[in-house]
Amino acid sequence: MHTNSTITLSLSALKKNITFLKRTFGRDVKISSVVKGNAYGHGIPEFVRMASRCGIRHFSVFDTDEAKKVKEAATKNTEIMIMGFLQNEDIPWAIAHDVSFFVFEKERLQQAVRAAKKSGKKAGIHIEVETGMNRTGFDLREIPTVIRLLKKEKEHLDFKGLCTHYAGAESVANHYRVTEQIGMYKKVYTMFQKEGLVPELRHTACSAAAMVYPETRMDMVRIGIMQYGLWPSPETFVSFLNKRKIKTDPLRRVIAWTSEVMSIKEVKSGDFIGYGTSFMAKQKMKIAVVPVGYSHGYSRSLSNQGRVLIHGRRCVVVGNVGMNMMIVDVSELKGLKTGDEVVMIGSQGQDDMSVASFGDYSNQLNYELLSRLSKDIPRKTDV
Ligand SMILES: *Cc1c(COP(=O)(O)O)cnc(C)c1O
Repeated sequence: MHTNSTITLSLSALKKNITFLKRTFGRDVKISSVVKGNAYGHGIPEFVRMASRCGIRHFSVFDTDEAKKVKEAATKNTEIMIMGFLQNEDIPWAIAHDVSFFVFEKERLQQAVRAAKKSGKKAGIHIEVETGMNRTGFDLREIPTVIRLLKKEKEHLDFKGLCTHYAGAESVANHYRVTEQIGMYKKVYTMFQKEGLVPELRHTACSAAAMVYPETRMDMVRIGIMQYGLWPSPETFVSFLNKRKIKTDPLRRVIAWTSEVMSIKEVKSGDFIGYGTSFMAKQKMKIAVVPVGYSHGYSRSLSNQGRVLIHGRRCVVVGNVGMNMMIVDVSELKGLKTGDEVVMIGSQGQDDMSVASFGDYSNQLNYELLSRLSKDIPRKTDV
């Protein structure tokens, strides 16, 4: 465990986000909380416990390892769905623990049937349809084979879902592509329906699709970024605001990331700061060392760019971000002491350091920045 910094999660923020999402989607749409990437860096155990307290009973993960972590933290009657990687040898575990999984290849479907037969229990499967993302999913020409297998192996398969994932619903530029995808999904759904195969859940939408294309909500939405209090893109936020009278952000950021001043020193005019020569002091400066670096998830591309809050003021990162440390300009601060709080994400005084503003400096998306936060940073829940 690192002791250099702390991640604090806000239960009240999460409650607010989930209430907003539920109100937006309505009662008939189930919410699956997407917690891949260590719950977008928030930490699976802590986040899943909080989300469970907010009434979430469905979680989506990328692989078996994450499914196991969710299982440990979640309350009973919680469904877990693996959307990505699953090795054949883990299929029996998934079946035994009622963990459902995406199926996008004939091979996996056959493995699921085999494992189900062996265990005497049905495998919960979600058939993923390729609609235009060109990543995973059955192509249209494979659908008749899938239908045939599903009918033949009915006693061994629980048809939990028919799903797809949209490519770039967060950007208006992809409007045509996404609309085509919706059309393709509907076409494939009809093919199943005609054969008497009706999935328990039709689910296709991520946050952006659920907000921008309401028809994609169907029976369940898979919500990642928005439950954490962030918008999938500035465009999605603007499009939401344009439809509303009250122009305020209904979401609250759940995460805060803080550290402390480790050391303070004076630097002479003309001296270089940190490794290399990327920053030269133009006048006498006071600098503070913060024990956070790229190994903890503070990107090196924030060198000479990032901002942190100290004493309620924005302080600029000077020189290159190191593996474990960075240096910030605190020339303007009076009475600074070692141990004073440093905020990388979160608020301090009147000011706020959002994930987005920190992301903008380094051209990283919110998603990437959050998921890179080291697993070893302790997580606390603020309740
Ligand atoms: C990550 C992911 C989501 C959630 O996306 P957000 O944009 O964070 O809401 C939904 N579906 C799939 C298949 C995903 O991989």
